Amino acid sequence: MSDQCIFCEIVHGNIPCAKIFEDDQVLAFLDIGPISPGHCLVIPKKHYARLEQCPADLAAALAARLGPIAQAVIAAVNAPGYNILNNNHPCAGQLVEHVHFHIIPRNPDDGLFGHWPAGKYPPGKMEQIQQKITDSLAL
Ligand code: AMP
Ligand code: ZN
Repeated sequence: MSDQCIFCEIVHGNIPCAKIFEDDQVLAFLDIGPISPGHCLVIPKKHYARLEQCPADLAAALAARLGPIAQAVIAAVNAPGYNILNNNHPCAGQLVEHVHFHIIPRNPDDGLFGHWPAGKYPPGKMEQIQQKITDSLAL
C-alpha cells in the first residue's frame, strides 16, 4: 500500500467502488468519470506506479484478465468495440500513479478519439531508434 494512493484505498476497502471483478492479484471496477458507459479500470492489488515496475507474473495476471472483462463489459452495454488504454507518467495522461488499464467501450460515431495522425521518419531515423531500443532492452 502506498500512502495517499486512491487506488490502494479502494483495494483496502477504505473508499467504495463499483467492483466488477476481483481475485488475489487483480481488481476491476467502474471508472467514476466514464468517457463511455461501462468504462472501467483493471488494476493490480499491489501498488506499482508504472507498468514496467510490475513483476512479470503480475503483468501476466493483469493481461490475462483484460480480454474476458472487456468481453463482459461490452456485452453489458451493447457496444461493438473497445479500447484498452494504459497511461504511464503524467506526460502520457496518467493522473493516478497506480498501474491501471482502462477498458473503454466504443460505438460507431461516439465522438471519442479516433485514429492518431501518423508521422513519418526521416531517412535512417527508424533504424537508429530500433538499434537504441534493442541495445537497451533487457529481456
Ligand atoms: P489516468 O488518467 O489514466 O490516471 O486515469 C485515472 C482514472 O481514475 C480516471 O479515469 C478517473 O476517472 C478514475 N478514478 C479516479 N478516482 C476514482 C475512484 N475513486 N473510483 C473510480 N475511478 C476513479
Ligand atoms: Zn496504489
